[in-house]
Amino acid sequence: MTAPFVALGAFGTAAAGLAGLLVGSFLNVVAHRLPRGESIVFPASRCPACGAPIAAFDNVPILSWILLSGRCRACRAPIALRYPMLEAANGVLWALVFRAAPGWCDFLSGAFLCSASLALLAIDAEFQILPDAITLPGIVVGLVLAFGSLTRTPLQAAVGAALGAGGLYALAFTYEKIAGREGMGLGDVKMLGMVGALLGPVGLLVTVFAASISGSVVGILLILARGGDGRTRLPFGVFLALGAIAAWFFADPLFARYRALWP
Ligand SMILES: [Zn+2]
Repeated sequence: MTAPFVALGAFGTAAAGLAGLLVGSFLNVVAHRLPRGESIVFPASRCPACGAPIAAFDNVPILSWILLSGRCRACRAPIALRYPMLEAANGVLWALVFRAAPGWCDFLSGAFLCSASLALLAIDAEFQILPDAITLPGIVVGLVLAFGSLTRTPLQAAVGAALGAGGLYALAFTYEKIAGREGMGLGDVKMLGMVGALLGPVGLLVTVFAASISGSVVGILLILARGGDGRTRLPFGVFLALGAIAAWFFADPLFARYRALWP
């Protein structure tokens, strides 16, 4: 844990984790309603099976799901395990980001990156889209928070955003020309603009590297398991999201080690 947060200690970590759980619950609403073009504010949460409104005491992150045995109180329709898992993942990540961040702006950008990535992961896995409503504001958030960051300058954030959006656009364009089919959507490009703004150029490269490797491994395994011609379209945003979260925690230490190899 680093300087400004030492005084807050375990209490701060627990508070960050609880806040992360609550935001994780909101991410479920975003991931469900945004791709369906519904308002993320109104109406209050309803059971997607029977339409019964969900009372506040049945909407406590993770706990309600366990107490209800993963079923709607009104109609007993199963509630997907994905909901409590997303809440738990966001809570754990916010606690870990709190322990690793050197200051408030870095905590906020790390927490934002994790939450936005989780929402994009859930949406891309189900709908194969990465909504502008998350990625474009994410670019702005990354640029603004860079002014108070202790790990990256506003220039690095701007270069990261430009490299992410511009560089990948060029790559996607070239691939399309050579292969004659679309390898990467514009949504991926905007998402990388957001990742670049929040992580800077080094974190962006680690993200792309990690996503390409893990995406290729999973793609090859799927082809081996199910057959197919390699054109099965994997939602690349899922791998970008996991890569970006990993890069927030590990890109700088990795880069420092890499640089230490050279005199
Ligand atoms: Zn129901």
